[in-house]
Amino acid sequence: MGVLTKKVKGAEDILPADSYKWQFVEDVMKKEAESFGFKEIRTPVFEHTVLFNRSVGETTDVVQKEMYTFDTKGGESITLRPEGTAGAARAYLEHALYNNGLPVKAYYLLTCYRYEKAQAGRQREFHQFGMETYGAADAKADAEMICAASSIFNRLGIDNINLEINSIGCKTCRKDYTSALKSYFESHKSDLCPTCLSRLDRNPMRILDCKNESCKKIAKDAPTVLEYICGDCSAHFEKVKTFLDAADVEYTVNPTIVRGLDYYTRTVFEFVTDCIGAQSTVCGGGRYDGLIEELGGQPTPSLGFAMGIERLLMVLDAQKIEIPKPPTCDLYIASLGEDAEVRAFGLIKELREASLIAEGDIVGRGLRAQMKYADKIGAKFSMVIGDDDISENKAKVKNMANGDQFEVPLDEEFLNAFLEKYLENYQKNISMSLQ
Ligand code: ATP
Ligand code: MG
Repeated sequence: MGVLTKKVKGAEDILPADSYKWQFVEDVMKKEAESFGFKEIRTPVFEHTVLFNRSVGETTDVVQKEMYTFDTKGGESITLRPEGTAGAARAYLEHALYNNGLPVKAYYLLTCYRYEKAQAGRQREFHQFGMETYGAADAKADAEMICAASSIFNRLGIDNINLEINSIGCKTCRKDYTSALKSYFESHKSDLCPTCLSRLDRNPMRILDCKNESCKKIAKDAPTVLEYICGDCSAHFEKVKTFLDAADVEYTVNPTIVRGLDYYTRTVFEFVTDCIGAQSTVCGGGRYDGLIEELGGQPTPSLGFAMGIERLLMVLDAQKIEIPKPPTCDLYIASLGEDAEVRAFGLIKELREASLIAEGDIVGRGLRAQMKYADKIGAKFSMVIGDDDISENKAKVKNMANGDQFEVPLDEEFLNAFLEKYLENYQKNISMSLQ
């Protein structure tokens, strides 16, 4: 007897009965990204560990606690991607995508890996959809990025999701803010968690993102970044707001958003909802003007966002938004007798070539069981062929929804005869092979 192996904790299966939901939202995301002129990028599941240390940042939760890092047999340190921005930025540089002209716009759909406490909306393997723009400093790019995320939510019919925006300034003006934060937290040192104590010197802004209750309490009264950002950053932020207003995208300014990854500068944003419990951020993003340079490229102002697909599906579910059901079998051909089986097999192929969904028996069942199966899979039409039908060269098709029947020839006229009746009831894009 074999031993049943279970899935790894924090990783989930997406089963055939549910995958249509994923396909639907992924399709909406891809189409929306493409309408903004973005093209898909696919990068490897794993990267050299140093890529994430350098880009996501040594002092972030992701790098300090959440990465799946291992040494290969060759002694290289490899990490399963905890997010998509670093890999996409690496690929942008490695393949000199800037040579094709800036801005470069790419979107991705990928799995991410983070060693976190698994719970609803927080998994160890999860899925992200994200968009990245390289080489665009203007505030219009920020507004465009936010619009793209927002229109995905709109297209999916999600309404109670709130956009919160903030600016965390540039490298220069952040220095003042960082020292103000540092002296503030210094005076509350005794209440900080050990991780935040270690952040105090290296990156006090990270403390604002800590999930520890005691740290959160102190962070609430910390100085806010908007009081410290420089004139340029402030003007940039105002422009982002102007363009969001122009596009009728509603937002609130939330000066406590700093985002959990180190590479952000200027605009940061989150889409949050209160309908899925504690894991309320569905989408997060912002500008990362220093990242490409940090990875060895020319200074390239860039920005992006990522949304968690599991959380998005939870929102759809909580808001009772119906996802269109996948198409079912157009015609099930049941057959009885050897000649009939062979003929059915050929006819099924013809139907599929015309882009219809067609099925027949592949397990050697009797007629009754075949019809039961046709019913179970929700076939729109069924047809039974016996050896007698072959000699008469015709068979009856039944509309499973209302029981209506019609006859079709079993020769080369079969497909046209069936399609004519089929199209009276259903719409379909039919493709005929080029001959
Ligand atoms: P959180 O504050 O919830 O931990 P985060 O700031 O770590 O989120 P990001 O790194 O910005 O998240 O990732 C973008 C999006 O990916 C999140 O808004 C969320 O929807 C999703 N996400 C992040 N971590 C997980 C996870 N462990 N499981 C499922 N989805 C996740
Ligand atoms: Mg996190």
